[in-house]
Amino acid sequence: MNSKPPTAATQNPEQTVFTLEDLTTWKYEGVSLAVLGHPVAHSISPAMHNAALAKMAEVDPRFQRWRYFKFDIPPGDLPTALPLLHRQGFYGVNLTIPHKTDVLPLLAKIDPEAERMGAVNTLRRLESGYEGFNSDGYGLSTAVTEELGIRLAEKPVVLLGAGGAARAAAVQCLTESCPELWLGNRNPDRLATLRDDIARFKGPSTRIEAFALADLPEGFPTDALIINATSVGLHPDDPCPFDLTRLRGTYAVYDMIYNPPETALMKSARRLGMPVANGLSMLVHQGARSLQIWSGATVPVNAMSQAARHRAG
Ligand code: NAP
Repeated sequence: MNSKPPTAATQNPEQTVFTLEDLTTWKYEGVSLAVLGHPVAHSISPAMHNAALAKMAEVDPRFQRWRYFKFDIPPGDLPTALPLLHRQGFYGVNLTIPHKTDVLPLLAKIDPEAERMGAVNTLRRLESGYEGFNSDGYGLSTAVTEELGIRLAEKPVVLLGAGGAARAAAVQCLTESCPELWLGNRNPDRLATLRDDIARFKGPSTRIEAFALADLPEGFPTDALIINATSVGLHPDDPCPFDLTRLRGTYAVYDMIYNPPETALMKSARRLGMPVANGLSMLVHQGARSLQIWSGATVPVNAMSQAARHRAG
C-alpha cells in the first residue's frame, strides 16, 4: 500500500493510499472525490463509492469520470491539504478519524445539522471553499431501521460513549425525538460535557439521563435500543463496554464497530437472544448520503452495500 504517482490514480483507486505530496501534482482529469484520514489504508470507502459510481454511470454518463480516492493525511496537515484539494478541483471529500472536528474552522459554510453535531464528515466544493455536512446521524438512523426494524423515535435509546460518534448519534436521537436518551460513558467529565452540550436540542418529549458505564441506574429502561459508540471492541480481545447480563427486559443492540464483525458486546447480546447488528450498514448509509449530497442523483445503496460486505470479508 505504498504511495504511487498520481498518474496511477485512475488505475487502482481502491488499493492506492495517496499522500499530501501526491496532491500537489494531482493529475486525474475527471471529477475527483476522496476520503482523508490517518490511518486510512483500511478504508473501504473507495470500493463502496466507486462501485456505486460505476452503476450510476450506466444511467448517466456524467458519472463515468467520477472517481473516489483515499489520502493519508496526518492531523497537522489538514490546513494544508484542504486548500490544495480545492485548488485541484476535488468536488467531494469524506473525513474520518482524526479530522471530523479539526475541519470546523477551515470551512466556508456549514450545514446546520453538522453544526449541531459539532463534527463534519462530508465536504462539498463551493467556489469559496468547502461546505461541511454530517451524514453519520442519517447513516445510523437508517441502518438501525434497516437492520433491527427500530425507528429512533419509538424507543428509549441507551447510547454508550461520549466521543464524536456518540455526539452525532445523540443529536440524531434528539432530532428524531426519541422518548428517552440514556448516555453512558467511562469518563464522567466528557459525559457531563456531552449531556450539557446537547440539552439545547432536546424537545419537550425527550428525557435525557447520564450514567457511568459500570452502573445500572434507577429507572433504566426495560425496553430499549442499545447503541455502542465507544471504541471498545475495535481490538478482538477487548471486553464488553457494558454488562448486558444485568438487564431484565427487551433490548436490541447496534454496535457501530464493523471490524471485527462481531465484538464481545455483540456476542453477549446474541447469547442473550437480543437482536443485534454491526456498524457496516451505518458506514454504507452515511456513504450513500454523502454521494447523494455530491451528485444530487439517486444512489444505488445495494451496490455500495455489496462492495462493503465484499471488502469487509
Ligand atoms: P472517540 O471520539 O475517540 O470516542 C471514543 C469513546 O470510546 C469515548 O466515549 C471513550 O470513553 C470510549 N472508550 C475508549 N476506550 C474505552 C474503554 N477502555 N472503556 C470504556 N470506554 C472507552 O471515537 P469516535 O470517533 O466517537 O468513534 C467511536 C466508535 O465508533 C469507533 O469504534 C468508530 O470506529 C465507530 N464509528 C463507526 C462509524 C460507522 O460508520 N460504522 C462511524 C463513526 C464511528 P472516555 O470518554 O471514557 O475516554
